[in-house]
Amino acid sequence: MTNPSTFSRRDSRQEQFLTILSREEAMARFEAALFPRPMPAEVRSLAEALGSALAEDVTAPVDVPPFDRSNVDGFSVRAADVAAASEALPVRLELNAESIACGTVPQLPVLAGTASPISTGGPLPRGADAIVMVEHTHAAGDDAIEVRRSVSPGQFVSYAGSDIARGEVLLRSGTVIASREVGMLAACGIARVPVARKLRVAVLSTGDELVQPGEALRPAAIHDANGPIVSAAVTENGCEASFLGAFPDDEATLESAMRQALAAHDVLILSGGTSKGAGDISHRIVGRLGKPGVIAHGVALKPGKPLCLAVCDGKPVIILPGFPTSAMFTFHDMVVPVLRRMAGLPPRVDVQVTARVPFRVPSELGRTEFVMVSLVRGQEGLAAYPTGKGSGAITSFAQADGFMRIEALVDHVPAGSEVPVTLFTPHVRVPDLVVIGSHCTGLDLVAGALFRDAFSVRTLAVGSLGGLAAAKRGECDIAPIHLFDPRTQSYNAPFLTEGLELVPGWRRMQGLVFRNGDERFEGRDPEEAVRAARADPECIMVNRNQGSGTRILIDQLLGSARPEGYWNQPRSHNAVAAAVAQKRADWGVTIAPVARAAGLGFIPLTEEHYDFALVSSRKERPAVQAFLAALQSPDIQVALERAGFARTQVS
Ligand code: AMP
Ligand code: MG
Repeated sequence: MTNPSTFSRRDSRQEQFLTILSREEAMARFEAALFPRPMPAEVRSLAEALGSALAEDVTAPVDVPPFDRSNVDGFSVRAADVAAASEALPVRLELNAESIACGTVPQLPVLAGTASPISTGGPLPRGADAIVMVEHTHAAGDDAIEVRRSVSPGQFVSYAGSDIARGEVLLRSGTVIASREVGMLAACGIARVPVARKLRVAVLSTGDELVQPGEALRPAAIHDANGPIVSAAVTENGCEASFLGAFPDDEATLESAMRQALAAHDVLILSGGTSKGAGDISHRIVGRLGKPGVIAHGVALKPGKPLCLAVCDGKPVIILPGFPTSAMFTFHDMVVPVLRRMAGLPPRVDVQVTARVPFRVPSELGRTEFVMVSLVRGQEGLAAYPTGKGSGAITSFAQADGFMRIEALVDHVPAGSEVPVTLFTPHVRVPDLVVIGSHCTGLDLVAGALFRDAFSVRTLAVGSLGGLAAAKRGECDIAPIHLFDPRTQSYNAPFLTEGLELVPGWRRMQGLVFRNGDERFEGRDPEEAVRAARADPECIMVNRNQGSGTRILIDQLLGSARPEGYWNQPRSHNAVAAAVAQKRADWGVTIAPVARAAGLGFIPLTEEHYDFALVSSRKERPAVQAFLAALQSPDIQVALERAGFARTQVS
């Protein structure tokens, strides 16, 4: 593609992206281009107004209650008649020939020396000025009562307009209508109210690689996560989301979809296609959709730098970054305030708590950074563990309790410092059992048993050493570890310190994986297999990251050799299996259950011990006891063995 027009477009695009604005500057320019603006309103029934903001003040058209009303079951009387009544000297009153039920208009006046029976909610009759509760009277024949207690004028009476007075402002403009507001409006007889019209927000995903959830993935494709998340978050913020689907990175198709979407909606939100890649076109189209066009493209946010904010003939057009985590942070931080303001809704209120960071958290200078954290309760209050696996990871959102914000001019948060954490939920959820350390799929089997017993479990994968440190600080109940001590030639026990005890877990067979039928590996022992692999210049390996136990094994096998693929160093057992299964590599080292699940051939090398460092002071907690019981239970033992883990017997 070397025609001149492509070049000039590309040049201007690069220029735009070089002007990176601070978060505050980008927000200020975006808001200045959108506000002030009239707020479209419409009249809706109470049921349909739920969740919307009132567009005008509402005044009460009537008094509530509309008449003087009895608050109790009893007798309407003249207070002066019973002023002297007592247990010892009851006062006798003759009963009038009517009983005032709810909804009945009284016909007879209460004259001196008389009373009319009245129900709760009944209108006070002429002449009466108080109610005597039925409990404070006795029947005296059929037509009279004895009153044994005095009452003051007005007792047990609600006067007309005492709840809501006609002409009073009932609800102010901007109030969000919830069930209580519906109740007040209904009590005044108001059936329809003027509310801000719900914002119509079009949501659209872009990318050739996207497949909708529910449809099968083709090779190299991924499921569209942004479409559903953004639509849900739009709805959660009181707007009406229309998800229009995922569009391929084709300029003409996308442009026509964007034009149609913009014509029928108040706001257009896209995701993807906003970086500098060749297929990234949506931000170029925006410039043609209306004035003034792009306001900010490139904001000093992490994650979220490629965010693009535009206004096209008064309507906001937002292109969120493609990675779901980046898309969500920029949506909540930069888009939600604008949507709510346009919709006449009050700003969202976020709950914050203070927590300590357990280790140093580095941050890029010059960008406002959002770091997702999981909260656990330690001896000194809450601790905030960063859960981020990078902006491409979607699970970090579900596992996180909230996020901390690191300002642009801060380059790290020191270990042990206290930070404000903005919660994703209204309250801190404290799990019953906290497991921090090395992850293993076998652990999911044990945790699953606890879930069935209604214990909540939080597992944070920070590696064996990170888990031990957390256990020493009292931030977890259990730290799963697999640490080999070369001096004693044994696993785990040498690493425990005062206050920790070892609970035996299971052994995981480590071995060479290859695709079944590969003659370089099939039927050989490990040394032969590695020799055959090295003899073949076409053979590619996949390594593991420095510091993992598996890497130590691989380096022992290879000695000083550095075969093709050595520098490919993924961080997990599953990534090794995927590389071999998908033919990016021919061999690697992983654990037997993972090899089996991926349908790969396996040559056993050695067994690794996966055990638990238990914080002794937490041993008696019910969830810890449940964990220990689950470990011992025959069901779990069978499940572990079936998954390829060998239980370590207590010696
Ligand atoms: P892009 O900005 O289009 O280059 O996308 C950046 C990354 O986000 C790529 O890995 C995309 O595959 C991914 N991505 C883009 N859109 C979505 C989406 N709707 N759901 C999930 N991932 C996406
Ligand atoms: Mg894309």
